[in-house]
Amino acid sequence: MQLVCLDLEGVLVPEIWIEFAERAGIPELRRTTRDEPDYDKLMKYRLGLLSQHQLGLPDIQQVIADMGPLPGAKEFLDDLRQDFQVVILSDTFYEFAMPLMRQLGMPTLFCHKLEANAEGFLVDYHLRMPNQKREAVKRFKELNFKVIAGGDSYNDTAMLAEAHAGILFHAPENVIREFPQFKVTDTYAELRAAIDEASARI
Ligand SMILES: [Mg+2]
Repeated sequence: MQLVCLDLEGVLVPEIWIEFAERAGIPELRRTTRDEPDYDKLMKYRLGLLSQHQLGLPDIQQVIADMGPLPGAKEFLDDLRQDFQVVILSDTFYEFAMPLMRQLGMPTLFCHKLEANAEGFLVDYHLRMPNQKREAVKRFKELNFKVIAGGDSYNDTAMLAEAHAGILFHAPENVIREFPQFKVTDTYAELRAAIDEASARI
Protein backbone atom coordinates (compact mmCIF):
# COMPACT_ATOMS: atom_id res chain seq x y z
CA MET A 1 0.00 0.00 0.00
CA GLN A 2 1.35 3.38 -0.99
CA LEU A 3 0.61 6.78 0.47
CA VAL A 4 1.50 10.21 -0.90
CA CYS A 5 2.26 12.95 1.64
CA LEU A 6 2.30 16.47 0.26
CA ASP A 7 3.22 19.84 1.68
CA LEU A 8 0.52 22.49 1.23
CA GLU A 9 1.95 26.00 0.86
CA GLY A 10 4.12 26.44 -2.21
CA VAL A 11 2.90 23.08 -3.55
CA LEU A 12 -0.91 23.32 -3.75
CA VAL A 13 -1.68 26.82 -2.49
CA PRO A 14 0.26 30.11 -2.39
CA GLU A 15 2.49 30.98 0.56
CA ILE A 16 -0.24 32.30 2.83
CA TRP A 17 1.98 34.73 4.76
CA ILE A 18 3.51 36.22 1.59
CA GLU A 19 0.10 36.78 0.02
CA PHE A 20 -1.17 38.30 3.24
CA ALA A 21 1.91 40.54 3.50
CA GLU A 22 1.22 41.97 0.06
CA ARG A 23 -2.46 42.66 0.63
CA ALA A 24 -1.90 44.08 4.13
CA GLY A 25 1.15 46.10 3.02
CA ILE A 26 3.46 44.60 5.65
CA PRO A 27 6.59 43.52 3.75
CA GLU A 28 8.21 42.09 6.92
CA LEU A 29 5.55 39.35 6.89
CA ARG A 30 7.06 37.99 3.67
CA ARG A 31 9.64 36.06 5.67
CA THR A 32 8.97 32.28 5.39
CA THR A 33 10.65 28.98 6.26
CA ARG A 34 12.63 29.49 3.08
CA ASP A 35 14.36 32.45 4.74
CA GLU A 36 14.24 31.37 8.39
CA PRO A 37 14.55 27.62 8.96
CA ASP A 38 13.86 28.06 12.73
CA TYR A 39 10.08 27.75 12.74
CA ASP A 40 9.45 28.94 16.31
CA LYS A 41 11.54 32.06 15.74
CA LEU A 42 9.62 32.74 12.53
CA MET A 43 6.18 32.31 14.17
CA LYS A 44 6.95 34.59 17.11
CA TYR A 45 8.17 37.22 14.66
CA ARG A 46 4.95 36.91 12.61
CA LEU A 47 2.54 37.05 15.58
CA GLY A 48 4.45 40.04 16.95
CA LEU A 49 4.07 41.90 13.65
CA LEU A 50 0.33 41.13 13.43
CA SER A 51 -0.40 42.46 16.89
CA GLN A 52 1.77 45.54 16.23
CA HIS A 53 -0.44 46.23 13.19
CA GLN A 54 -3.68 45.39 15.06
CA LEU A 55 -4.58 42.65 12.56
CA GLY A 56 -6.73 39.74 13.69
CA LEU A 57 -7.84 36.36 12.40
CA PRO A 58 -10.92 37.63 10.48
CA ASP A 59 -8.67 39.99 8.44
CA ILE A 60 -6.34 37.14 7.58
CA GLN A 61 -9.15 34.69 6.79
CA GLN A 62 -10.74 37.15 4.39
CA VAL A 63 -7.51 37.42 2.40
CA ILE A 64 -7.04 33.65 2.39
CA ALA A 65 -10.56 32.97 1.13
CA ASP A 66 -9.79 35.12 -1.96
CA MET A 67 -6.41 33.56 -2.71
CA GLY A 68 -7.49 30.24 -4.15
CA PRO A 69 -5.24 27.23 -4.82
CA LEU A 70 -2.33 27.48 -7.27
CA PRO A 71 -3.40 27.15 -10.93
CA GLY A 72 -3.79 23.45 -11.77
CA ALA A 73 -3.50 22.30 -8.14
CA LYS A 74 -7.09 21.08 -7.82
CA GLU A 75 -6.87 19.05 -11.05
CA PHE A 76 -3.47 17.60 -10.06
CA LEU A 77 -4.78 16.60 -6.63
CA ASP A 78 -8.05 15.18 -7.97
CA ASP A 79 -6.10 13.00 -10.45
CA LEU A 80 -3.59 11.93 -7.80
CA ARG A 81 -6.36 10.92 -5.40
CA GLN A 82 -7.78 8.56 -8.03
CA ASP A 83 -4.62 6.45 -7.76
CA PHE A 84 -3.20 7.10 -4.27
CA GLN A 85 -4.32 7.87 -0.77
CA VAL A 86 -3.07 11.41 -0.14
CA VAL A 87 -2.41 13.15 3.18
CA ILE A 88 -1.39 16.79 3.30
CA LEU A 89 1.20 17.52 5.99
CA SER A 90 1.57 21.23 6.61
CA ASP A 91 3.06 23.63 9.13
CA THR A 92 0.15 26.01 8.55
CA PHE A 93 -2.90 26.24 10.83
CA TYR A 94 -6.44 24.91 10.42
CA GLU A 95 -7.79 28.44 10.91
CA PHE A 96 -5.81 29.63 7.88
CA ALA A 97 -6.13 26.56 5.65
CA MET A 98 -9.84 25.76 5.72
CA PRO A 99 -11.02 28.29 3.08
CA LEU A 100 -8.42 26.79 0.71
CA MET A 101 -9.12 23.17 1.62
CA ARG A 102 -12.74 23.65 0.64
CA GLN A 103 -11.54 24.80 -2.80
CA LEU A 104 -9.32 21.68 -3.04
CA GLY A 105 -12.20 19.28 -2.30
CA MET A 106 -11.37 18.81 1.41
CA PRO A 107 -8.38 16.44 1.27
CA THR A 108 -7.02 15.15 4.61
CA LEU A 109 -4.87 17.77 6.32
CA PHE A 110 -2.62 17.40 9.37
CA CYS A 111 -1.42 20.77 10.63
CA HIS A 112 -1.45 23.04 13.70
CA LYS A 113 -3.76 25.35 15.62
CA LEU A 114 -3.87 29.06 16.36
CA GLU A 115 -5.21 30.69 19.47
CA ALA A 116 -7.13 33.95 19.17
CA ASN A 117 -8.44 36.06 22.03
CA ALA A 118 -12.06 37.31 22.33
CA GLU A 119 -11.25 40.28 20.06
CA GLY A 120 -9.99 37.97 17.30
CA PHE A 121 -6.32 38.88 17.74
CA LEU A 122 -3.87 36.01 17.57
CA VAL A 123 -2.19 35.49 20.90
CA ASP A 124 -0.43 32.15 20.45
CA TYR A 125 0.11 29.13 18.23
CA HIS A 126 0.05 25.46 19.15
CA LEU A 127 2.10 22.90 17.28
CA ARG A 128 0.39 19.51 17.60
CA MET A 129 3.85 18.04 18.11
CA PRO A 130 7.41 18.92 17.08
CA ASN A 131 8.56 17.68 13.65
CA GLN A 132 5.04 16.51 12.83
CA LYS A 133 5.74 16.01 9.11
CA ARG A 134 8.55 13.55 9.74
CA GLU A 135 6.73 11.91 12.67
CA ALA A 136 3.62 11.37 10.54
CA VAL A 137 5.66 9.66 7.81
CA LYS A 138 7.35 7.47 10.45
CA ARG A 139 3.96 6.38 11.81
CA PHE A 140 2.56 5.72 8.32
CA LYS A 141 5.56 3.45 7.69
CA GLU A 142 4.75 1.60 10.92
CA LEU A 143 1.27 1.08 9.48
CA ASN A 144 2.96 -0.66 6.53
CA PHE A 145 2.51 2.12 4.01
CA LYS A 146 5.21 2.89 1.47
CA VAL A 147 5.42 6.66 1.56
CA ILE A 148 6.16 9.07 -1.29
CA ALA A 149 6.58 12.67 -0.04
CA GLY A 150 6.64 15.96 -1.92
CA GLY A 151 7.48 19.44 -0.65
CA ASP A 152 9.17 22.72 -1.53
CA SER A 153 11.03 23.99 1.51
CA TYR A 154 13.40 23.44 4.44
CA ASN A 155 10.55 22.34 6.67
CA ASP A 156 9.83 19.46 4.27
CA THR A 157 13.30 17.97 4.04
CA ALA A 158 13.00 15.74 7.16
CA MET A 159 9.70 14.39 5.81
CA LEU A 160 11.27 13.79 2.39
CA ALA A 161 14.24 12.02 3.98
CA GLU A 162 12.00 9.83 6.16
CA ALA A 163 9.82 8.78 3.20
CA HIS A 164 10.69 5.89 0.86
CA ALA A 165 10.90 8.52 -1.90
CA GLY A 166 11.30 12.29 -1.52
CA ILE A 167 10.51 14.79 -4.26
CA LEU A 168 11.13 18.55 -4.33
CA PHE A 169 8.56 20.71 -6.12
CA HIS A 170 9.17 24.39 -6.96
CA ALA A 171 12.03 24.44 -4.47
CA PRO A 172 14.39 27.42 -4.22
CA GLU A 173 17.99 27.00 -5.42
CA ASN A 174 19.47 26.87 -1.91
CA VAL A 175 17.25 23.92 -0.90
CA ILE A 176 18.01 22.08 -4.17
CA ARG A 177 21.76 22.63 -3.60
CA GLU A 178 21.67 21.52 0.04
CA PHE A 179 19.60 18.39 -0.62
CA PRO A 180 20.84 16.91 -3.89
CA GLN A 181 19.46 13.47 -2.92
CA PHE A 182 15.87 14.51 -3.74
CA LYS A 183 14.33 14.47 -7.20
CA VAL A 184 13.62 18.01 -8.44
CA THR A 185 10.35 18.90 -10.18
CA ASP A 186 8.82 22.21 -11.29
CA THR A 187 5.44 21.46 -12.86
CA TYR A 188 2.51 19.29 -11.77
CA ALA A 189 3.15 17.03 -14.76
CA GLU A 190 6.76 16.52 -13.59
CA LEU A 191 5.64 15.97 -10.00
CA ARG A 192 3.07 13.40 -11.07
CA ALA A 193 5.66 11.64 -13.27
CA ALA A 194 8.12 11.56 -10.33
CA ILE A 195 5.42 10.13 -8.03
CA ASP A 196 4.56 7.44 -10.59
CA GLU A 197 8.25 6.64 -11.09
CA ALA A 198 8.76 6.35 -7.30
CA SER A 199 5.61 4.26 -6.98
CA ALA A 200 6.99 1.71 -9.44
CA ARG A 201 10.38 1.66 -7.66
CA ILE A 202 9.64 1.50 -3.91
MG1 LIG B 1 5.84 24.70 1.49
